[in-house]
Amino acid sequence: MTDSVDPATPRYSPQTELIHGGIERSQHGETAEALYLTSGYVYDSAEQAAARMSGDEPGFVYSRYANPTVRMLEDRLALIEGAETCRIAASGMGAISSALMSPLQTGDRVVAASALFGSCRWIIGTLMPRFGIEIEFVQGDDLEAWAKALSRPAKLVLVESPANPMLDGVDISAVAELAHKAGAKLVVDNVFATPMLQKPLEFGADLIVYSATKHMDGQGRVLAGAILGKSDWIEEHVDPYLRHTGPAASPFNAWVVLKGLETLNLRVERASATAARLADAVAGHEKVRAVRYPGRKDHPHHEVLMRQMTGGGTLIALSLKGARAEAFRFLNALNLIHISNNLGDSKSLACHPASTTHRALSDEERAAMGLDDSWVRLSIGLEDAGDLERDLHNALDAI
Ligand SMILES: *Cc1c(COP(=O)(O)O)cnc(C)c1O
Repeated sequence: MTDSVDPATPRYSPQTELIHGGIERSQHGETAEALYLTSGYVYDSAEQAAARMSGDEPGFVYSRYANPTVRMLEDRLALIEGAETCRIAASGMGAISSALMSPLQTGDRVVAASALFGSCRWIIGTLMPRFGIEIEFVQGDDLEAWAKALSRPAKLVLVESPANPMLDGVDISAVAELAHKAGAKLVVDNVFATPMLQKPLEFGADLIVYSATKHMDGQGRVLAGAILGKSDWIEEHVDPYLRHTGPAASPFNAWVVLKGLETLNLRVERASATAARLADAVAGHEKVRAVRYPGRKDHPHHEVLMRQMTGGGTLIALSLKGARAEAFRFLNALNLIHISNNLGDSKSLACHPASTTHRALSDEERAAMGLDDSWVRLSIGLEDAGDLERDLHNALDAI
């Protein structure tokens, strides 16, 4: 497999690469990205088949390994992130589980921030120990705890910043330094920030993982995921794992994400501006106990989040006065904003993490994250900001 992009010398700014990056045109010269909906490839001769399979001749052999449409998405994302290379998987978890499991063996150590997407916590907290992998969770904002956990050798470190669902911030540079001293690679789940607002590679991260299901598709249609990083690591560890375990993305889904990327910057910019306005608009409401938004000074991790991000992002966490009953009444009183655990959609969505996305955690684990029944997570979309503000105020008044 050869990479056709050289991210060390990007041709254009990310905004332009979102639209043109990675395009490989067929002999027909189509304007839009071609959809190669094929599982296999044919060869001119038996000799060519042998040369392709052995890797002596570059080219596609089977879409579990690589596909031209999926390759265009990989090259485009590598250019936008400024990474050497990218691999696409069928979902965010297909990508993240492959990035995490592929380099590990029994006896290795993995250290992770405790505030993680639920399935990431399951992989580290439940799956890895079954294979004799030693794991440790650390409070993401506690640098002393990181230093202690990483005073012993480790293989991988995983953080998410801002993290689901409380939008906690992790100091990526500080954790990267500690991880590298411990011999570990730092993996950053950058879903909430998107590549438009945060570039973890600039802060020393080694691997970036995404659910492309979220802002990259951005219109709630398909699942996909991405792994970005250095070619030598990905070729040695991730490629054999992806090829032989098979979480390959559908070329159709990759094509949908390619088209979604064309508007990623516009959508993230617009949704972030609306989210910043809405966070301020609900902060003073009498039914609101606390608002957490990275761009607001009252967020406990405001300083580190805004050092790493160029905008506040599209998500808001809201603590309502009361508990589950009040949170449910608020959600049920929303008209325009739909109740959904998805995020990063052009439609604004709201959920109650303690009873949905984070219901599998123990009470102690939720308490350690500061997540109680009063919290609601809002994913802000592309509707008119005034309409959204009225919907939020009506629902708050209805509590
Ligand atoms: C959604 C999400 C994932 C998982 O992605 P899927 O595409 O649903 O598999 C991982 N991390 C974060 C932060 C997410 O929001």
